[in-house]
Amino acid sequence: MKSKIHPKWHAEAKVTCACGAQFTTGSTLPNIAVEVCSNCHPLYTGQQKFLDTAGRVDKFNQRVAQAQAKQAAAAQRAAKKAADEAAAAL
Ligand SMILES: [Zn+2]
Repeated sequence: MKSKIHPKWHAEAKVTCACGAQFTTGSTLPNIAVEVCSNCHPLYTGQQKFLDTAGRVDKFNQRVAQAQAKQAAAAQRAAKKAADEAAAAL
């Protein structure tokens, strides 16, 4: 083994999951934070779970709200136009 090129090995690196589970493993990092582990992964729990670390669900909901507001405004404009045309026809 060449000297001074290998990172320090932590045989008891502490892994902390977002669900609260903790366990140790071997790693070059002393502490590891993970979002999902075998305790809480849907494959093992059989329960659906949303992993939303980048706010993607929030962004999607915002886009849906914007689209619905746009549709409502367009429907209002169309109804007003129809009413104006009906009034002009009289
Ligand atoms: Zn977990």
